[in-house]
Amino acid sequence: MSDSYMPLTSVNSGVCKEYAKGVYGLTVQIVNVFFILAPSGDAVLIDCGMPKSASFIIKEAEKLLENDRQLKAIILTHGHFDHVGALEELLDKWQVPVYVHPEEMPYVTGKADYPPAKPEAKSGLVAKLSPLFPRHSIDVSSRAKPLKEDGSVPFLEDWRWIATPGHTPGHISLFRESDKTLVAGDAVTTVEQESLFEVAIQKQELNGPPAYFTMDWLKAGESIRQLAELKPASLLTGHGVPMKGADFSQELSSLADSLPASQGW
Ligand SMILES: [Zn+2]
Ligand SMILES: [Zn+2]
Repeated sequence: MSDSYMPLTSVNSGVCKEYAKGVYGLTVQIVNVFFILAPSGDAVLIDCGMPKSASFIIKEAEKLLENDRQLKAIILTHGHFDHVGALEELLDKWQVPVYVHPEEMPYVTGKADYPPAKPEAKSGLVAKLSPLFPRHSIDVSSRAKPLKEDGSVPFLEDWRWIATPGHTPGHISLFRESDKTLVAGDAVTTVEQESLFEVAIQKQELNGPPAYFTMDWLKAGESIRQLAELKPASLLTGHGVPMKGADFSQELSSLADSLPASQGW
């Protein structure tokens, strides 16, 4: 299934926008990747989009990486196919390390596959298509590195990573305290990912992680509560239009309360 192409795209696909200082989001069909430019001139790519999107991501990156800026690393929020789809091809272009949480390492080094999608987890066409989504591990062993346990983010001094398990065992989010910018991967989404209609129009609302692939709902809820405590003012997620300008702690807490109170798998 690794060649499967998702005929899904959202209205803002293909526009690289600055959502917070030095944080540029690019929508690749149904998923967002983020470039973070550090004051030092280094750049880091967060997540790698859909399969077959490498040339598109590189083209957008080249617009950002002018004036001798260099991409120094790729950081993965987790290893699902829509976040690593272009990774292997991007590594042909950029010889950089790929940082993941130690518990996500098996899924990017060919050692473990994610469990099958649960299309019945929620209604909606994307959920129905989900058994077709690739779930097999990629293998980037030669480049994969575990993130340091101290929470530091390579090349991005003013950021820290936070373990937000649940959607996957080693899912992480990234947070910058100075302006409360949160890059949350699939820990939360700002679109109801299960529904093709909402994906297509990118209706803006806070939602839990994509249900068909979420492995542990109890942990997913705890992770969202932890994110609420950060009082993020910008919420940049793997799916959906970034939200900014408010304190999202209350909405995140309510969202956590609304998640299924069972393990899920
Ligand atoms: Zn995911
Ligand atoms: Zn995703």
